[in-house]
Amino acid sequence: MTFSVTILGSNSAIPVHGRHPSAQVINIHDQLFLVDCGEGTQMRMNEFKIRRSRIHQIFISHLHGDHYFGLIGLINSYHLLKRQEPLHIYAPAGMQEIIEVQLKNSRTEIAYELLFHTIDASTNKKIFENDIVEVYTIPMNHRIECCGFFFREKKGLRKLLPEKLQQHEIPQAYYNALKQGDDYIKKDGSIIKNDELTLAPQPSHTYACCSDTLFNEQIIPIISGADLLYHETTFMNDSAARAVITFHSTTLQAAEIAKKANVKKLLIGHFSAKYESLQPVLEEAQQVFKETVLAEEGKTFSVENA
Ligand SMILES: [Zn+2]
Ligand SMILES: [Zn+2]
Repeated sequence: MTFSVTILGSNSAIPVHGRHPSAQVINIHDQLFLVDCGEGTQMRMNEFKIRRSRIHQIFISHLHGDHYFGLIGLINSYHLLKRQEPLHIYAPAGMQEIIEVQLKNSRTEIAYELLFHTIDASTNKKIFENDIVEVYTIPMNHRIECCGFFFREKKGLRKLLPEKLQQHEIPQAYYNALKQGDDYIKKDGSIIKNDELTLAPQPSHTYACCSDTLFNEQIIPIISGADLLYHETTFMNDSAARAVITFHSTTLQAAEIAKKANVKKLLIGHFSAKYESLQPVLEEAQQVFKETVLAEEGKTFSVENA
């Protein structure tokens, strides 16, 4: 089952060096979720053939423009394209007001249901759940209210063993209950244990997406053991003082978090405009955490095979 992350934008602050402000698409079992929506997100979606009609939930980490300036454009496009399904936006307080003032002044009456969910970015809390995934906030330490998002894939159903079902002549009506883990009770009252009839489900996978933050070890227990960690890496180590002033992290700090949280792979992004080449940024992070990759735009990173 697919679980992957496609980077649409990986730069901080301004679009430069062919890089764009933050946005990424999470694909979980072919359901798409958008995290952040910087300027240019729609153009990148076109370029990378992301089917935006399949996005129903958008998660915005915080209200710095490089994380949401593309949102009004996307909302408007859905309107022009006659979207029918509701669109859910999860963001810190203020997002709804920002969008509504733009819609009001352009006299746009969105034809689909646009639903805002104000999140409390200061807590680690479940904010969304459906049949395949749970999404939790991860408190970040930034200049304004900001959170990351933790995606936990739900455990799949158990896999039926057809030859066993046949052998025990189990009616189809019981298949769903068996997939959920129930034992089968025969007419004579004897029990066939579930693990005789099914295989355990695939292990569930996790993705921790941590955007703008000062080095913050308090997130380690929350993201511990994640298959994939995205952590902002605005600066290299020689700008560590600047990182503190601007509430951002460095390569070594992101790698330190990855190491202490024992994640499988680290994806670094939110690069400062001052770095044209990212190779030194990558190499510096790899000194501390070898399994580090650059959040290059257009690339898709597998979470299940991280
Ligand atoms: Zn930012
Ligand atoms: Zn920011």
